[in-house]
Amino acid sequence: MKILLIITIIAGGLMADTQYNELSKEEEHVIVRKGTERPWSGDLLNNKKTGTYICARCNAPLYSSADKFDSHCGWPSYDDEIKGAVNRQTDADGRRTEILCANCGGHLGHVFLGEGFTAKNTRHCVNSLSMNFIEDGQPLPPILGDKSSDAAANTGVAIFAGGCFWGVEYLLEKQPGVIDVVSGYTGGHKDNPTYREVCGHSTGHVEAVKVTFDPQKATYESLARFFFEIHDPTQVDRQGPDIGEQYRSVVFYENEAQKQVAQKLIDKLKEKGYKIATKLQPATTFWVAEDYHQDYYDKKGTQPYCHAYTRRF
Ligand SMILES: [Zn+2]
Repeated sequence: MKILLIITIIAGGLMADTQYNELSKEEEHVIVRKGTERPWSGDLLNNKKTGTYICARCNAPLYSSADKFDSHCGWPSYDDEIKGAVNRQTDADGRRTEILCANCGGHLGHVFLGEGFTAKNTRHCVNSLSMNFIEDGQPLPPILGDKSSDAAANTGVAIFAGGCFWGVEYLLEKQPGVIDVVSGYTGGHKDNPTYREVCGHSTGHVEAVKVTFDPQKATYESLARFFFEIHDPTQVDRQGPDIGEQYRSVVFYENEAQKQVAQKLIDKLKEKGYKIATKLQPATTFWVAEDYHQDYYDKKGTQPYCHAYTRRF
């Protein structure tokens, strides 16, 4: 899906340009290609004015000057974000935590915990190039491609765990109405789990996928049914050759309606004689997995080894 999206953006270059602010080469290097500006080089590093730091690409407010502090690290530093403005994911290096604009997904920098700079013990280390500054008293520009209004109202989210996420992602991505599927970890007790930690059973997480879909073209029920038919929901703490609690079958429901749909499907399968092992759990933080796990089979050009469609309903 990601490959397709990139092609769409290249093919529809005009559309992409008009949706977001045009970026300079340097901004694009940081925001789109996750680069890092040279330390001490940013315009906003020593800015002491009061106001709001907004995303350079989509104008979404990210940080308040009230949370800015001097960390002497060479990049603007904040010990808190504007609520809901910043997403976190494990960096491609598998070690650090990358921070991204929650609205447009633009790269901001990294967040570090436990350094003791301020009482909040948190340092958002942000590239100046990823942001613009709007001084108090000046109007904030409109947010471009605002996900909190139009788009969010028009998309649904479903989170499923059914064994190795490579295969679950691959098959769900090909379903009508599915906009995107991301592989990740959820249901455990540690922030920013890595693949190695999850496989080492030390974090309690399960391999899972987060599906974003268009409710005009797919329903939560249709996707949940499909989920029960592309993995074996009777296997306990395993899926085919993959053995371990990280491969357990779980539906992570976002709300009561999703829970009821999933329960109804489980009841139907039980009526048909299946001994269902699938658990229902409320959705918690979904940690996006390392880059090399995303679109795994599409990148490799091979087919899933332990997931295939089997009619069960
Ligand atoms: Zn943005």
